[in-house]
Amino acid sequence: IRYTDEKGWHDAKIIPRQPLQIDPASTVLHYGQEIFEGLKAYRGKGGAITLFRPEANAARFAASARRLSMAELPEELFLGAIKELLKVDHDWVPSNPEQSLYLRPFTISNEVFLGVKRANEYLFIVLASPVGGYFSGNGSIPVWVSETYTRAAPGGTGEAKCGGNYAASLLPQQEAADHGCSQVLFLDAKERRFIDEMGGMNVMFVRKDGSVVTPPLGGTILRGITRDSILKLGRKMGLTMVEEPVAIEDVFKAAAAGEITEAFACGTAAVISPIGEFRRESGSVAFGDGKTAGPVTMKLRTALCGLQRGEEPDPFGWVHSVSL
Ligand code: PMP
Repeated sequence: IRYTDEKGWHDAKIIPRQPLQIDPASTVLHYGQEIFEGLKAYRGKGGAITLFRPEANAARFAASARRLSMAELPEELFLGAIKELLKVDHDWVPSNPEQSLYLRPFTISNEVFLGVKRANEYLFIVLASPVGGYFSGNGSIPVWVSETYTRAAPGGTGEAKCGGNYAASLLPQQEAADHGCSQVLFLDAKERRFIDEMGGMNVMFVRKDGSVVTPPLGGTILRGITRDSILKLGRKMGLTMVEEPVAIEDVFKAAAAGEITEAFACGTAAVISPIGEFRRESGSVAFGDGKTAGPVTMKLRTALCGLQRGEEPDPFGWVHSVSL
């Protein structure tokens, strides 16, 4: 779907995937006006295709557009584009319950000028690709604590889902890989004391008493839809779910003392994936035995997956069936 200030959103079409032609002076190439979302279409009971909280993705997408001073796509166009795409060929959505169709809606500015100012031309595109589960079922991921780099400063773009944030996290992600970790954990930019989030996931910890704690939203972390769903689902299941600042030193101490027994990453890709250990320059600490997923992590994971795949009742109204 194209946008200009004069015409608004117009010229919606579905075409076979092909190279995009954009001018070398398109502002996205120079100033990074790119925002995106990630969500999954599941094949539910009886072959029905479902989306999980897509209106939350639409709202976050609009918020990202506002932060980057880009054109906002109305919710009905965001949802309509995805549903129309699914209708073209719903065989794309895998029937294996471990798999799903990953959807990547994004907007770029393709206006041609050199200069830092709000653009007036945009292109909204949705890409679709079948994906498997991130969680292997038998392993806990090691996570590298980045003490050198941060992801987002107060007042910055941390809460927006924009390409630039991910460009900035490539080097720390590589640093994590160099230390044998598949994921990086970021601390707050001001004091390097409190945990923000991971490269592409939010993070939660389980205390010995069974309560679950996660860093609060404060403008520097992404408003994860999985994070929000787990908080609400956990409360409904009778768990104590706490949003409060989590200091990295406290986590190292509490995990070593057995006061924090589990840690997990959460996001659309990861759903809920257990974290085995945190590593940093001065040493590492394991959660539980460092190998197997803990009981609270698995309980939440089973409940969330059941809901997302339409296998469990949905008291929240989160699961949207797509009529084909
Ligand atoms: N934090 C970051 C930086 C992410 O990229 C993601 C993935 N979108 C998340 C958290 C998790 O968000 P969600 O649960 O909405 O996928």
